[in-house]
Amino acid sequence: MRKADVFVFAGPPGSGKGTQAKLLAPKLKVPHISLGDLLREAVRNRSKVGEIAKSYLDAGKLVPDKVAIDVAEEAVSKKECRNGFVIDGFPRTLEQAVLFDGLLNKLGFNLRKVLYIDIPLEEILKRLTGRRSCRKCGAVYHLTFNPPKKDGICDACGGELYQRRDDTDEVIKVRYEVYRDQTSPLIDHYKKTGKLVYINGVRDVSEVFKEVSKAVGS
Ligand code: AMP
Repeated sequence: MRKADVFVFAGPPGSGKGTQAKLLAPKLKVPHISLGDLLREAVRNRSKVGEIAKSYLDAGKLVPDKVAIDVAEEAVSKKECRNGFVIDGFPRTLEQAVLFDGLLNKLGFNLRKVLYIDIPLEEILKRLTGRRSCRKCGAVYHLTFNPPKKDGICDACGGELYQRRDDTDEVIKVRYEVYRDQTSPLIDHYKKTGKLVYINGVRDVSEVFKEVSKAVGS
């Protein structure tokens, strides 16, 4: 039997990897897993993982690899994922990537492509300080580039819009440094497998998505 495909979105914070993953998953009719969303949910629910993760998220640092891999393993082992899935925000270190390769093997998945969306730091700062997210449905807006019709209210569900605690200038810079030092070595790891696709993220969401769709062959 053919193995189910897995697509990974990688890239610096604010590159749009979450946005693109959210668009691709329904097109492929598979679930979208966002490690950042799962960790934020754990913090909100004050679970054991959430208690550990909170200070890392607030500071813009990565949670320990063991915590990240456990959360990812639990998510991808669910039966909704059996036909494949799209994941963003994981893996984020070389250690996580190696463990993830093993996990996919163990669970019988095929890592099809790693879509690497690249944008420079100035663009990251512009995008993230204006980002607002809906507390209820998770829709993402931007005060300048994609404002909601009514200030502070989600167009889609009427939920309250909020600014992520880690979307402030100071924490964004830490997140970028963490990305540069800990996550960017992944790019070489995946280049060697021939599965890496480089995508220029400094374009409209729809243009980036056209390229993503072409890269995954859908
Ligand atoms: P994101 O929503 O992808 O920007 O992630 C928000 C925060 O969640 C990051 O700054 C980290 O604190 C944490 N996080 C998300 N994914 C991972 C991961 N794979 N490993 C460690 N920490 C993570």
